[in-house]
Amino acid sequence: MLAIQLPARLVVRSITSFSSTSTTAATATTLQEIAATRKGLAKVVLKKGKTQIFRDGSPMVYSGAVDRIIGRPPPKTGDIVLVADGLEKPIGWGLYNSVSMFCVRLMQLEEEATRDLNCALDMEKLLETRFDAAIELRRSLGLPSVDTTAYRLINSEVDIYFICRLSGLIIDVFGDVAVVASSAAWVEQYKSEIELHIRTMKNIKHIKWRPSIDILKEEGLDITDQTDSDSSMLSEVKVIENGICYNVSLAGQKTGFYADQRENRRLISLISKGQKVLDVFCYSGGFALNAAKGGAEYVIGIDSSSPALELAEENVRLNKFNPEKISFMRKDATEFMKEAASRQKVWDIVILDPPKLAPRRKVLQNASGMYRNLNSLAMKITKKGGLLMTCSCSGAITQSGTFLRILQGAASLAGRKITILRQAGAACDHPIDPSYPEA
Ligand code: SAH
Repeated sequence: MLAIQLPARLVVRSITSFSSTSTTAATATTLQEIAATRKGLAKVVLKKGKTQIFRDGSPMVYSGAVDRIIGRPPPKTGDIVLVADGLEKPIGWGLYNSVSMFCVRLMQLEEEATRDLNCALDMEKLLETRFDAAIELRRSLGLPSVDTTAYRLINSEVDIYFICRLSGLIIDVFGDVAVVASSAAWVEQYKSEIELHIRTMKNIKHIKWRPSIDILKEEGLDITDQTDSDSSMLSEVKVIENGICYNVSLAGQKTGFYADQRENRRLISLISKGQKVLDVFCYSGGFALNAAKGGAEYVIGIDSSSPALELAEENVRLNKFNPEKISFMRKDATEFMKEAASRQKVWDIVILDPPKLAPRRKVLQNASGMYRNLNSLAMKITKKGGLLMTCSCSGAITQSGTFLRILQGAASLAGRKITILRQAGAACDHPIDPSYPEA
């Protein structure tokens, strides 16, 4: 069992000095009491029956869940607002966006505000607390260490640890570089505060921003011409993860490295001895390199991106792995697997880590079909009794709870029996579902 040491800094302060109206005094929530001292705080009232998902921790309040907004003048993008249930009782507070389909990013729930009054309706304080919690939490998990200098510090709304949840913000630490990926307007609004908190980490010398330009446009921000505040022109950084060296391209996919797959990669290194391993959608070779380190008989990595494969080859050289035991191929994954299946080629261990196939709920059905077909092919080329580690990084699939059903569908399509061994979150948001073809 993993014992997690939480930062002991939940400050509780008396709130008796806050004024409250006589009608609310008996039942006033913490946020109601504090809000009573603030002028002009708008209230976003949710439709009846639409509150539970947000109470359960989803911080992105979509416009369809909103019944009405109370407040004159109406809130502007970036304003702090209360989010309330159908009876107008606050369930939390967040930052408003008048343009985005997510009109509020919830920052703190009512019960969190009650536990930590310091941050209630105070974005600067909240950021400080969340950063302190994230740094302390990763430290208590042994990050960074001699063996691992690449890790995710903040993982947006999908962080499994609520105490460092900041919707729209991802921060990966790669050695002395912090890469900040922003996908919400508020992140750009609080850029200097975020940089300030990152700089409290003594080992960080550079901060690289990787804004999701298209998503930010949907948030009402055009930052196409913005220049990087880091003047070092740094384009690459060397890191270690699970004792394996990687060259991370700071212009590479997403933040440059999929740090959230660390624990799943470690698992592969532990079970690969003497195995034939196939890493489909390998990017810079993360799973393949772990298999090689774990003593695999031979490993092949497949990806359609040349820059990704150049990194993978470079990483083989960096670790001085035997190039006869690990190789990479530029191919479309489906094409490669179809061809291999037609030649009845099989591997002992197959890893399938496709890109996000369901970027939004609207395309869920189509994406489910794509996941089913990919997994079906992967099952066909996994040896009977072998192991398929299959991943989905589509939040929409995770939320729909259908991934296991998709895998069962894939198994019947492939004519295979599978046993689901384990379903786990990764270092962050990737659920993994290794399945076990039997017959
Ligand atoms: N497993 C990797 C991360 C994979 S990200 C790791 O641990 O680092 C998904 C990868 O799929 C990307 O590298 C992308 O280039 C690749 N990709 C996208 N579409 C593809 C396709 N049709 N065929 C093969 N690779 C593809």
